[in-house]
Amino acid sequence: MDTKGHGDLTVRKRRPRTVFDLDRLPQLPSSEKIRLRAVTEQFAFKANDYYLGLVDWYDPDDPIRRLIIPHRSELSRFGKLDPSNEKAVTVCRGVQHKYESTVLLLVNETCPAFCRYCFRKRLFANDTPEAAYDMKDGLEYVRQHPEVSNVLMTGGDPLVLSTPRLEKIVAALRCIDHVRIIRIGSKMPAFNPFRILNDDTLVEMLAKYSWPDRRIYLMCHFDHPRELTSEARQAVDRLLRAGVVCVNQNPIIRGISDDPDVMAELWNELSFMGVPQYYVFQCRPAVGNEPYSVPVVEAYHKIEQAKKLCSGLAKRLKYGMSHESGKIEIVGVDHRHVYLKYHRAKRKVDEQRFIVCHRDDKACWLDQLRPVEGYRNDYYRAVSRPDSAHQWI
Ligand code: SF4
Repeated sequence: MDTKGHGDLTVRKRRPRTVFDLDRLPQLPSSEKIRLRAVTEQFAFKANDYYLGLVDWYDPDDPIRRLIIPHRSELSRFGKLDPSNEKAVTVCRGVQHKYESTVLLLVNETCPAFCRYCFRKRLFANDTPEAAYDMKDGLEYVRQHPEVSNVLMTGGDPLVLSTPRLEKIVAALRCIDHVRIIRIGSKMPAFNPFRILNDDTLVEMLAKYSWPDRRIYLMCHFDHPRELTSEARQAVDRLLRAGVVCVNQNPIIRGISDDPDVMAELWNELSFMGVPQYYVFQCRPAVGNEPYSVPVVEAYHKIEQAKKLCSGLAKRLKYGMSHESGKIEIVGVDHRHVYLKYHRAKRKVDEQRFIVCHRDDKACWLDQLRPVEGYRNDYYRAVSRPDSAHQWI
């Protein structure tokens, strides 16, 4: 199997330099750097010279800039540290049993760069470690749970780990007969495709453990077509040739991925590359995320508009919300109502459940939508909690 792809060697030799300090960016005026200090004290900044090279510094609203450079409005009082209440499904350190068949392993607490809208930004700031560097407990947990057919390695970005460390986890998972799918959630192909282009052992390792009846999936995270550089395309091509199934998922983010033409271009291009768009997520109400949120109704209409510009293969995605009660698809909006449906549910009773809410053009999350009377008793009941308006149970 050709796992090497057709990378040109000069491209493959590049090693992007990581930048942690806005003061190291000559493109930003000093006044701006001073203004942003308060933001970076709260929400860490991390980038690299390859990704920063994609920014159009002449455009203050440039989407790539918006994704990577802090913004003052992140300081507005908004959201929770753990907006999907991942704590509730954490069974031991670094291990979340999210749905019956799905376990998440948080294998590290960093990424090659930080998206400003990250829903797990608590990991980058928190002194209390949540990820497990030694996955012994996680692997044992999966071993003891035969219902788990899917393991998602996440973090942070698993591809930040060295190939030998990654292989240790992947190889151990492959020894567990009931684990059929190993997923790796990664924005590495967008942030630093050279991680994949430079390391033949990584690609060979993935090829070794992606079997015909037990595939490895790379859950790519491209937000904008400008991230699909020739290097990123080559990196994805290497993974596809190695037998890794690649799909894309990203949130709809104000000023980055909320333009129907841009969305359609991204999904079409990805489909040409063999990387179907899998999910578009509602931006989670995490701390610092107010400037990045797009209300559900607006997002739904923009996604539908984008779909009109796409081939069938490019628009196989679902638009959903990773709510603490499950993954909820937003299936429709009319002049009075928002229609939602559980795609995955934490509780059995919610599986495939249909929800009708009053239309609210400002609502950005399920908890802000008001259920239609009559559906309330059948479908859910809301209980007050001190830290949120409603909990859906
Ligand atoms: S790649 Fe994912 S985990 Fe990493 S900073 Fe971006 S959103 Fe957060």
